[in-house]
Amino acid sequence: MAGKQRPRSLSRSLFGTLLAFALLAVLVVAVALVTIAYHGQEARSEEALVGQARQSARVLEPCTAEERIALLAGQIPGPVRFTLMDAGGAVVFDSGTDEAGGENHGSRPEVVQAEEGGEGVLVRHSDTLNQDTLYVAERLDDGWVIRVSEERMSLVAFLGSMAVPLGVLLVIAVLGTILLSRLLTWRIMRPLDGLDPGNPLAGDVYGEMQPLLGRIDQQQRQLRLQNEELKQAEGMRREFSANVSHEMKTPLQVISGSSEMIAEGLVAPQDTREFGRRIYLEAQRLRALINDVLTLSRLDEASAATAERAPVDLLEAARRTCERLEPLAEEKGIGLSCGGAAAAVSGNEPLIEQAIGNLVQNAIRYTEAGGTVTVTVGCSGDGDAARAFVKVRDTGIGIAPEDREKIFERFYRSEKSRSKETGGTGLGLAIVKHAALYHGGDVAVQSEPGRGSEFILRLRNLL
Ligand code: ADP
Repeated sequence: MAGKQRPRSLSRSLFGTLLAFALLAVLVVAVALVTIAYHGQEARSEEALVGQARQSARVLEPCTAEERIALLAGQIPGPVRFTLMDAGGAVVFDSGTDEAGGENHGSRPEVVQAEEGGEGVLVRHSDTLNQDTLYVAERLDDGWVIRVSEERMSLVAFLGSMAVPLGVLLVIAVLGTILLSRLLTWRIMRPLDGLDPGNPLAGDVYGEMQPLLGRIDQQQRQLRLQNEELKQAEGMRREFSANVSHEMKTPLQVISGSSEMIAEGLVAPQDTREFGRRIYLEAQRLRALINDVLTLSRLDEASAATAERAPVDLLEAARRTCERLEPLAEEKGIGLSCGGAAAAVSGNEPLIEQAIGNLVQNAIRYTEAGGTVTVTVGCSGDGDAARAFVKVRDTGIGIAPEDREKIFERFYRSEKSRSKETGGTGLGLAIVKHAALYHGGDVAVQSEPGRGSEFILRLRNLL
C-alpha cells in the first residue's frame, strides 16, 4: 500500500536520540561503578580471610592433633569454612562437611602452594553456581595444613544483584528523557511556532534558518508583486472591455437607426444615398475597431520570447505601406515621400507594416492639406546595440506636451485631434507601441504644436 508518508516528528527524533544516550550513559556508569566496587570488596575480603587464616595457624601451631580438631569443632559455625589436613594431605577436619578424613586434599593447588611456600591463596570459579570460592591455606610447622575458605558472589552474580537498583535508575532515565525531550522540543519549536508566514524574517529567528526564510520572504514579495500586477492587468482589461463596448455603441446605433428608417420607408428617395453612405462609414469604423481590438489582444497574448520571426526588409515594408496609403494622402492634398537606407530586422512582417501604416495614417490624418509626410528608414549604432528605425515626420497640428506620453494609451485621443471624425479608433498608437515591444524596440515622439510631429519607431536590428 503506497500510503502517504507521515512527516517526521521532531519531538520523537529528539526523544529517541536522548533516550539512547541516557540509557548508554546509565549502563556504562553502572557497570563501571559496580565493577570498581566489586573489586574493592574482593580485595578487602581476601585480606580479611588471609588474616583469619594466619591467626588460625598461629592458634593451632602449638596444639596437638586432638586439640586442633577440638578447637576447630568447637567454633560457632559461620560463613568461613575450616579444613584441617595432616602432613599427608588427608582431611582430618572439615567444617563444611560432616565426614572427616574422606578425601585427600594434598594435590589442591592452594595446599601445594602452602606446602611449598608456607601460604597459598586461590580463587576458584564455579561456572554453575555463579559463585567464587576463596581459599587461603597455611602450612603449620609439623607439615599440617589449615585451610580457610569463603564463598562469595562472582562479578556476574554481583551485577545481577544490582538489577533492581539498575532498573530503577533506567526508569528514572527514561522518565527524565521524556521530560527533557519535551522541554527541548518546546524550546526549539518556540521561534518556529512564532513564525509569521507573511513576514518570515520578523521576530526571533534562528540564524541557520535565515537563508530559507530569506527565500520565502523573497518569494512572498514576488507573489505580492505578481498579484498586484495581475490585479492591475485585470483592471486594465476590464477598462478596455468597457471602452470597446462604449466605442461600438455609437456606430451600431447609427447603423441600426438609419437602416430601420430606410426599412420603415421613412427616408425620402433622394436621401437614401446619404443614409447608405452613413451606414457604410459606421460599418467601416466598426470593422477598423474590431480589427484593432483583435490585433491588440493577439499582441497581449504573444511575448517577445514566443514570437515567430523572419527577416524583414524595413525599407521595402515602408515603401509598400506608403504605396498603399498614397491615395489617402493624395485625396487630402498631402505630399507623401519615402526613402532612406536599407535596414533588415528579424520579426513579424505584417505587424511591422501595420505599425508603420498606423504612424503614416495618423500623420496624414492630423496634417492639413498642403502639408507633407516624410518616411525615413535607417540604422543607428552597431553590433548588439544596432537598431533599425523608421521615422514618420509630418507638418501637421502637432501634439501638446501634456499629451505626448498619453497618446500611446488605449483609446486616448487629444482634444484637438477630432480623431473620431477621421475614422480613428484610438488604438493605433497602442498597437504601434506593442508592436515595438514585441520586436524588442520602442517608439518615441517629438512634436511642436502647430508645426508638426515626428514619430520614431526603433526595432532591434537582429540580422
Ligand atoms: P486615433 O485613432 O485617435 O488616431 P491613435 O492611437 O492612433 O488613435 O492616436 C492617439 C491620439 O494621438 C490621436 O487621437 C491624436 O490626438 C494623437 N496623434 C497621433 N498621431 C498624431 C500626429 N501625427 N499628429 C498629431 N496628433 C497625433
